[in-house]
Amino acid sequence: MLLHWLVNLPIFIGFLLNLTENIFWQIFLSQWTSIFSVIMIAITTIILYGKLKLGYFLAGQAKCPECAKIYDRPFLGVSLINKKYEKCPHCKKWHWIRKSVKEEGR
Ligand SMILES: [Zn+2]
Repeated sequence: MLLHWLVNLPIFIGFLLNLTENIFWQIFLSQWTSIFSVIMIAITTIILYGKLKLGYFLAGQAKCPECAKIYDRPFLGVSLINKKYEKCPHCKKWHWIRKSVKEEGR
């Protein structure tokens, strides 16, 4: 309830200050919502796993095609439709990874 109120607070403030049609206020609102969402996902991963694991929470794990070790996929990366260019934390080499380990049926 408190978090719902907190995410909607700028809408209420914009309404009170008559900023609802101001383009800069609308840009701020969209950025506020995006940043708030990422922070809430981060807090959720900390609650679930005990530490910040955004990549694992959103993308799962992947198996490196070079060293065959499994690692948590990074949160940020270069995506190309169904592939993601990411660095293996074990062998430090970059690869195009197609699926997470869960999607391969492991
Ligand atoms: Zn590797």
